[in-house]
Amino acid sequence: MEELMRRSEKLNTVGQLAAGVAHEIRNPLTTLRGFLQLQEQSKKLNLDHVRVMLSELERINLIVGEFLILAKPQAVKFKYRDIRDIISEVSVFMSSEALMHNVTIKDNYTEDDCRIPCEENQLKQVFINLLKNAIEAMPQGGQIHIVISRLATHVSVQITDEGIGMDEETLKRIGDPFFTVKENGTGLGIMVSQKIIQSHQGLMELSSQVNVGTTVRVLLPLQEERQYAEASNL
Ligand code: ADP
Ligand code: MG
Repeated sequence: MEELMRRSEKLNTVGQLAAGVAHEIRNPLTTLRGFLQLQEQSKKLNLDHVRVMLSELERINLIVGEFLILAKPQAVKFKYRDIRDIISEVSVFMSSEALMHNVTIKDNYTEDDCRIPCEENQLKQVFINLLKNAIEAMPQGGQIHIVISRLATHVSVQITDEGIGMDEETLKRIGDPFFTVKENGTGLGIMVSQKIIQSHQGLMELSSQVNVGTTVRVLLPLQEERQYAEASNL
């Protein structure tokens, strides 16, 4: 009974999401169609219209891109990886974007082993999304601190920025599909990250203060390698 309810709740969420995505994609598609019709009527190329069309296409691309990770759960394979390696690769990957926005990334990693069972590409997606948000929260530049520590049962990754922060209202709505305060935002990054962290039995905590900054903490469960090998044989 309980399981049934959970399943139908899930279906409901997926249904809502699908409706939301369809809606979000229909808007730029309508614009694209309108501008293409104009081109057809005038029979000459208007570069301003072409630019609008390209940016609408880019928007569709962004929305679809953020969903790709969620769309192929069957391809997910958990392996043992050290979270410090994952984060350092993501840091390197994001460093040019950070540099372009006058943002420096400082990190402080524990010496302890931080291997956890995980889907590496999905976790990378999570930390790319979180670092992007941190960079975007500091339009004048600033510093991002990444701290990795090993607790008794979890690995903790903490990302702190010195950005615009969030008020109570924003904190309440963060993670709702399509909730964004950005002109070019999709409002999908946090939701996608939360889904991935949930699938790793982890947790995401947020604390924020307007004009001071935001800390996002991701907790991922540690598991003994032996136990993990047993569990994966099931
Ligand atoms: P997007 O980045 O496309 O807006 P997200 O799901 O990544 O979508 O974030 C949703 C919203 O949460 C953002 O628009 C912003 O208001 C808020 N937010 C997320 N991370 C931060 C942060 N580090 N600092 C301030 N606000 C943030
Ligand atoms: Mg984002």
